[in-house]
Amino acid sequence: MAAVVAERPTPVPLKPAARPGVRELLATGRRSYSFEFFPPKTEAGERTLWNAIRRIEAFAPSFVSVTYGASGSSRDRTVELTKRIAAETTLRPVAHLTAVGHSRAELRHIIGQYADAGIRDVLALRGDPPGDPKGEWTPHPQGFTHAHELVGMIRQLGDFSVGVAAFPERHPRSPGWTDDIRHFAAKCRAGADYAITQMFFHVEDYLRLRDRLASVGCLTPIIPEIMPATDFRQIRRFAALSDARFPSALARRLEAVQDNPADGHRVGVDYATSMAERLLAEGAPGLHYITLNRSTATLEIHQNLGVQAASFGSSRIRPA
Ligand code: FAD
Repeated sequence: MAAVVAERPTPVPLKPAARPGVRELLATGRRSYSFEFFPPKTEAGERTLWNAIRRIEAFAPSFVSVTYGASGSSRDRTVELTKRIAAETTLRPVAHLTAVGHSRAELRHIIGQYADAGIRDVLALRGDPPGDPKGEWTPHPQGFTHAHELVGMIRQLGDFSVGVAAFPERHPRSPGWTDDIRHFAAKCRAGADYAITQMFFHVEDYLRLRDRLASVGCLTPIIPEIMPATDFRQIRRFAALSDARFPSALARRLEAVQDNPADGHRVGVDYATSMAERLLAEGAPGLHYITLNRSTATLEIHQNLGVQAASFGSSRIRPA
């Protein structure tokens, strides 16, 4: 079966790209190792984040990404933090951007800001209904209904490298796998260069998703997300929000040590390390670590894998 080939709209360059994006990095065949942050709300949170950023920077990851918030002020913080990472560190930032609550003109404006800052990597998402992520989805009247439309717009606006979301346990709103795979393939046809998965805890779910996509000719690189499950209560909340199936044996081990954070940390790091090892052995194109703005657990997992900084890809050139 023929591979799904992206239809590339004619680019209208906003500013020359300062350096290669994630697309080019993945095309070299080297593995990508990346870390995800969210924009903090407080000064203390800001300090914790920058502490983590500086520690992670020393490992020269392939890229770091910044999540996009649900409301105005947190959205502005995403844009500011992403621009600051581009200007003040040697890291390659990927900006998450969601269509929810935005008109097309607003989305164009944000993308323009990134282009002006020399940022050419965007993770294009639909987003969830504000307030209740499981509530009814209503598009902005002048906006987009699904992520593939945002992907198309970004590709039209310039030579961006565009990532999208993938769901190893399928999107919770999808009526079935056939629709889910068809809609994912539409994002690739619209110009997505790669995908990052939702958190998951069973390697088989990732492998089955990859097989399902391959069976319809969609060979887009899918980077698995690694969430260190070190805290029983926190992971139960996250897993419920994302609908991720949590392994009962791991839940029992975490529950048994829930009043001893050091033991919980060890259990979570060991489980994530073995998942990461297996994913890499199965040919995953890299790993995307959820940091929750801290670096200890994710860097431990990363170091357990024995990956040398030299194999990360050259992200040492500052953007112009
Ligand atoms: P879509 O691809 O549009 O899919 C959403 C649903 O619509 C799916 O069920 C899909 O099958 C269906 N669908 C798609 N196209 C069609 C069509 N043409 N007709 C009918 N149905 C269709 N959220 C944030 O708010 N901020 C973030 O920073 C953020 N970062 C994320 C990072 C990753 C790696 C992941 C996996 C998710 C992230 N999310 C974030 C959450 C994401 O916004 C939600 O999971 C959202 O519900 C789905 O987004 P999507 O881009 O996959 O949407």
